[in-house]
Amino acid sequence: MIIVLKSHSTQEQAEELLALIKSKGLEPLYLPGEERTVLGALGDERQLAELHFENHPYVEEVKAILSPYKKVSRELHPEDTVVTVANTRFCAEDFVVIAGPCAVENEAQMQTVAKGIHAAGANLLRGGIFKPRTSPYSFQGLGLAGLELFAKAAADNQMGTVTEVTDIEEVAQLDGKVSMFQIGARNMQNFRLLKAVGQTRTPVLLKRGMAAKIDELLLAAEYIVDNGNEQVVLCERGIRTYETATRNTLDLNAVALMKQRCHLPVVVDPSHGTGVRELVVPMAKAAVAAGADGIIVEVHPDPTVAMSDAHQQLSVAQFQELMHQIAPFVKAAGRSFA
Ligand code: PEP
Ligand code: MN
Repeated sequence: MIIVLKSHSTQEQAEELLALIKSKGLEPLYLPGEERTVLGALGDERQLAELHFENHPYVEEVKAILSPYKKVSRELHPEDTVVTVANTRFCAEDFVVIAGPCAVENEAQMQTVAKGIHAAGANLLRGGIFKPRTSPYSFQGLGLAGLELFAKAAADNQMGTVTEVTDIEEVAQLDGKVSMFQIGARNMQNFRLLKAVGQTRTPVLLKRGMAAKIDELLLAAEYIVDNGNEQVVLCERGIRTYETATRNTLDLNAVALMKQRCHLPVVVDPSHGTGVRELVVPMAKAAVAAGADGIIVEVHPDPTVAMSDAHQQLSVAQFQELMHQIAPFVKAAGRSFA
């Protein structure tokens, strides 16, 4: 339930109502805005009805929260949430570019990519240390052995790091050692993992499951936020459809819809979204036009020998060309590169 207080209401009045909400065993939320103070009450709807706030002298309006997710909903929180990762801000004015290889393979690979993408204007370095692969026989990542060379390549080029965690143990191992956790498509509904990253203060890049509905992605984000971590960025990375000409079907509807319904930043992954190198640039442009706050792109010094996702990774030169090609779209969207 959303409770909009009358204008000129005082903090004491808000606190009085928050105490009432709490006394009913509900979770009170205090959301002071520039014009009006809004309170939230989350929990059993029957307890909410008993409060009869619609007749309360401090209250202007009472509205039900119609969406199944609450804390990530724009109904409750109309302003955009700004997510800060290292020196980079995901916000309405900026366009963030996360780039790097699918997997961290070796030091020379990481140094070459980090230097090249930084020079081209990328903000954050991605790279998988723990790789969740469809086949148990595929390269599974360097594990913790890859962390140091990954972190060094990023630090040498003044970039923050984004890497995937696939279980709770990895969250503990990497917390404080990377700038942003990635939850991959295969783990979007791993609720214990969502709770674990929710209990840290490290920002989270939450990727859409390959067969997940938009509401399910937003409810997965709700788990993280409900556990105390509001620094969440959503990622559309394509869904599985009947189409086999591309690896996945990039659902740009999801970008526009999530920007309307949810206050968290949204980025697009045109690499996994298409699985086809030649489609990465056009779909990156489309992502900017659809209102994305950034992109995450796979880049490898020599994609033909990449140990994973060889068909979709860009070379450093192709990444430079991507940055050049999307620049006018970023400007037309009223944004600047972060
Ligand atoms: C990745 O980004 O490396 C990855 C595995 O992506 P996804 O989880 O979207 O398949
Ligand atoms: Mn990949």
